[in-house]
Amino acid sequence: MSNPFAAPMSSGPSGGVGGLLVGEAWSDGPLLVTNVIATLPDACVKCNQPAQHRVKTTLQWVPLWVRLSLLLSPLMMLVLYLIFRRPATVDFGLCEEHFRQRNVARVAGGVSLGVGVVLLFGGFLAIDALEGWALAFMGVGIVALLGGAIAVGRFASPLSPSEIDREHARFTGAHVDYLARLPPWDRR
Ligand SMILES: [Zn+2]
Repeated sequence: MSNPFAAPMSSGPSGGVGGLLVGEAWSDGPLLVTNVIATLPDACVKCNQPAQHRVKTTLQWVPLWVRLSLLLSPLMMLVLYLIFRRPATVDFGLCEEHFRQRNVARVAGGVSLGVGVVLLFGGFLAIDALEGWALAFMGVGIVALLGGAIAVGRFASPLSPSEIDREHARFTGAHVDYLARLPPWDRR
């Protein structure tokens, strides 16, 4: 049985960037659109300069209503998150500077999250002994937790998912010149 799609597809540079990319990423205005598993061009996604590092990461996205359910119940949000999360795995390039910034944000965010957890639960457990101080510890802990979450969510990941469905992911954070290298999204 002959397969009409079996012929080699690598017929030329059209639609690809540096020979790396055929049908894996597009630009849609300020958004980067990718397949849910994608290898991106060999340039820094944040500044479009030559990439010294490759980063492969899986990012999760859930609809806004799932995130808002946190206001009702953290446990309910966790369950909904696990049910409705959509992952996308992207392999992208970073220059030396943006790779360093990513690592600093990851470490700072991780430390801040850890300090927040210790202060929050430490204050909660010692609430009888510390009284008013326990509330202060817990307040600082909550601020550290939020700061850590923002550092990890906003800065540790160069790309932030704005929507992920079964086939495609949309990200903010890519440089405008980087997006200009990609074919425009045609809403197939
Ligand atoms: Zn860069």
